Amino acid sequence: MKLHEYQAKEILQGLGINIPRQTVAFSPEEARAAAEGYADGCVVKAQIHSGGRGKAGGVVVCNSPEDVYKAAASLIGRRLVTNQNQEGMFVSAVLLTEKLSIERELYLAVAVDTKSLDYVMIASPCGGMEIEEVADSNPDQIIQIHVSDSLKAYHIQYLADRLALTPAQKAQMQTILSSSLHYMKKNDASLIEINPLAVVGGDLVAADAKITFDDNALYRHPEIKELEDLSQIDPLEKQARGIGLAYVKLDGDIACLVNGAGLAMATMDIIKSYGGKPADFMDVGGGVGVEKVTAAFELIMGDSKVRSIFVNIFGGIAQCDIIAEGIVQATKKTSLSIPLVVRLRGTHEEEGRAILNNSGLDIISIEDFTEAAKTVISCANGGRS
Ligand code: GDP
Ligand code: MN
Repeated sequence: MKLHEYQAKEILQGLGINIPRQTVAFSPEEARAAAEGYADGCVVKAQIHSGGRGKAGGVVVCNSPEDVYKAAASLIGRRLVTNQNQEGMFVSAVLLTEKLSIERELYLAVAVDTKSLDYVMIASPCGGMEIEEVADSNPDQIIQIHVSDSLKAYHIQYLADRLALTPAQKAQMQTILSSSLHYMKKNDASLIEINPLAVVGGDLVAADAKITFDDNALYRHPEIKELEDLSQIDPLEKQARGIGLAYVKLDGDIACLVNGAGLAMATMDIIKSYGGKPADFMDVGGGVGVEKVTAAFELIMGDSKVRSIFVNIFGGIAQCDIIAEGIVQATKKTSLSIPLVVRLRGTHEEEGRAILNNSGLDIISIEDFTEAAKTVISCANGGRS
């Protein structure tokens, strides 16, 4: 789960980290009224769960309340396309922040490293909007330090030298890193990123901030879950949450409906290896009944890119004949018109296939995994193999 910049900065402020003065506004009128509090002008920033806003016109320097009104009116209620998100993200709010005279832009982040299973601090003297280019062309300017147990004095000294910090800035960086690490451990956050970490009047100030949390741990932090802005989530993913499906939308045209995350990944792999493109990762979990399959089909039909559907179910405790009955009923209920390939294996698989074959519906039932994958790909391409 991601937070907006303004929420992330409020958290950082609570940790003793300097942030610029800020006000969030949900309408152009609210933004204009808030601008009265910024006599020297302010920066208006689109609040979306994506970076790259500066280059996309989502960060606007304003000199008067009228400028602020115009900037807010051009951003709020629209989708902002960034190089990190081609479909664009809905702007539900803007942030007004005081203008800063930035002397230097650094990069500082703490992240969970899922390979080494510890925390990694990432820093660069070349922060700001070009950080991705720096990582490509000057990787030696990106410093990474793993923190296996606790932050050490020599970590701080090394980073302070590489970032050419003054003694006062070094102390501020120590606060940022130690309090960020502490916060992440306590709240199951997977990333705190400050880019740029600006030098303003000799002090370190978080001019932009991002915090991400581990979705699987959110049940332990209801107060964090409450901070989520649902306008930033893909509508289909939102619908999937309501049904209790593990679903990730992808940009292909073959919808997958599978039970078990491992089988779901194997299904995506085999589709890809034969040249197809999955439209989603979907794990319907245990209990593949009529209601769940119906809801999953409705969800799939909401994705206009989908050209064929691959239902790949392993019947363990759940029996294939009961699942087949669910598929038949769901197909009728939703008047499904997209080609449907079903592979049923496991308990009562033959009875299950008989139900599909005798249903009078246009369901292609295939036992072999490879053949089923090739067929669903050919269906997506407009043919039947
Ligand atoms: P991002 O592009 O989504 O990462 O948005 P940022 O919040 O990082 O803003 C992009 C860039 O705008 C920063 O790298 C800064 O160079 C610039 N910027 C943002 N706020 C200010 C400010 O208050 N003063 C100045 N001088 N520049 C700012
Ligand atoms: Mn930034």
